[in-house]
Order: sequence, then C-alpha cells, then structure tokens
Amino acid sequence: MKRDISTDDKSRSAARAAAAEARPVPAVSLPPGPTRLKFWGVRGSIPTPGPTTVHYGGNTSCVEVRADGQIIILDAGTGLRLLGRQLVAEFDSQPLDLTLLLTHTHWDHIQGLPFFLPVYKPQNHLRILGYEGARHGLEVVLAGQMESPFFPIGLREVPANVRIEELKEMSFNIGLVRVQACFANHPSKCVGYRLFTSHGSIGFFPDNELHPPAASERRKLRDFLRGTDVLIMDTQFDTEEYHQHTGWGHGCLDDVVALALEAEVKKLFLFHHDPNHDDAKISQMLAHARKLVTARKGKLQVEAAREGVTVELAK
Ligand SMILES: [Zn+2]
Ligand SMILES: [Zn+2]
Repeated sequence: MKRDISTDDKSRSAARAAAAEARPVPAVSLPPGPTRLKFWGVRGSIPTPGPTTVHYGGNTSCVEVRADGQIIILDAGTGLRLLGRQLVAEFDSQPLDLTLLLTHTHWDHIQGLPFFLPVYKPQNHLRILGYEGARHGLEVVLAGQMESPFFPIGLREVPANVRIEELKEMSFNIGLVRVQACFANHPSKCVGYRLFTSHGSIGFFPDNELHPPAASERRKLRDFLRGTDVLIMDTQFDTEEYHQHTGWGHGCLDDVVALALEAEVKKLFLFHHDPNHDDAKISQMLAHARKLVTARKGKLQVEAAREGVTVELAK
C-alpha cells in the first residue's frame, strides 16, 4: 500500500534538499599541465577599437592564468568579457570556481566585470580579491559601477556566488599558488602581484611608475621581482612621452627594461599600451626595447603583450 508521506518525512526530505543545495558542487577540475597565461586585454586607460589597433588589441587589462588546478584572473578590464565567453563555451554548465585578483579599481581594470558571463550562471563561484578602494571599501566601489543609472543589474543581484574579499595581508595562497603583493607607484591604492606556481612565477604590474621613487623603493621592487619568469609591466610611455607625463603613475619603457635586466627577469611583456599608440608605434617600442637589451648584452626576452596570445611556463 502506498503510504502518505508524513510531515516528518516531508521535513526530512526538505532538509535533505536544502543540504544538497548548500553543499558546494565540486568545481570543474583542470587537467594537470604547465602554467599557462593568456592575454585578454592589454590596453591602458580606455578601450581602443579600430583598424590601427587590431594587431595588439584594444581591450583593457585582463590576463588569465591557469596553474596548479586554479583559474586565476588578473584584473577585470574589458578583456574580461571575452574570457567569460570562452569559459562558458569551454565548460558549458560545469560549475566554475574562479579567483579574480584586482590590482586597483580604476575603470580600465574593472569595467569588464558587469559583462562577465560566468556571474550570470548560478552554478559558478567567483572570489574577488583586492585591496581597499580609494575612499570606499572594495565592495562599495565594485557594486557602485553596476548601480542604476550606470547598469541595469546590481552586483549583488547576479545569480553566481560572488564573494568580495578585501585583502589585508601582502602574501596569501590561492590553492597551491602562492601570491605576493607589492604596492605600486600609481595614484590611489594600487598593487602588483607575483604568482608562484609549480612551473615558474609571473609578475603583474599593469600600472606603475618607476620614477621618481627613492633608490630604496627601486631596490625593493627589484628584489620583489628577482628571477621572475614572466613579467607583465606597465610601459605606457617612451622616454619623450614620459617626460611630459612624469607623476602620472605610468611606466617609461627604458626604465622598465633596465629594471627587468637588473632583476634578472627571463621574459618581459610590455603592457598597458597607451590608447594613443597604434600598432606601428607599439612595434617600434618593442624593437627599441630589444635594442636596449642587446646593447647591455642581456638575456632578457622582450615581447609586447597582444590580445589572444598564450604563454606557457614549463619547468
Ligand atoms: Zn590602468
Ligand atoms: Zn590605474
């Protein structure tokens, strides 16, 4: 005889359903392999679509790192939109467990977040880590850009589980990846990161001016970066432009190459390309950087970061 479900049974099954709901679904596991990074946005300040920027790309700061089973995203500039589409296409409805590391909250580093498709899928988890925003806490700043009248959906209304954590420590772990942060010389609070993966380390300083910090500051940064396998650094200006923009908080190409040589970096990617620089100008700056290395008889490899390019670190 079919028995009616008692109230107890009902409440037990409701509790089971609730527990199943609350239990974290195992996130998609990445196959073991070398550390891989991919450039999704390489431009500084503002996106620059158009025929003169198609080679290096016009989206702002966003780099994806896959290492030691983790998907770590460096900055949420407009390149993040393309990464989001790729992740959804690749993993379909499998739950994603993503970590986004923000260097700071200037527009060109956060504007992709409202257009990041994985936050509109309830199965996904996104942990956003960064330091306090200028004047306001990190969460207030990030939610602010999605408030009406700027955007129709609030950050707290998106279906994914989004956690925002304001960092206090300068050293922490994301799974097996050790991360160290270092304050950058840039208006408002801004950091650079170094990620230590089991296949080498990545330095990420998208916004930073090397001059005029005191010699002790330069030494500190050199020590922080010593032996970095892949360094992605702000080289927005050539020397002449830099002299007209001293104190703006952005890098001068010659200084960055000199620092990378001193710090025995293996590979340097020119980054945060100036919005006024077309493809030809960036290629010219790259050629100049390589000449500087040759003149110093250095071993440093130099590239200009380009949207869509993947780099593998294998030790
Ligand atoms: Zn920037
Ligand atoms: Zn900035």
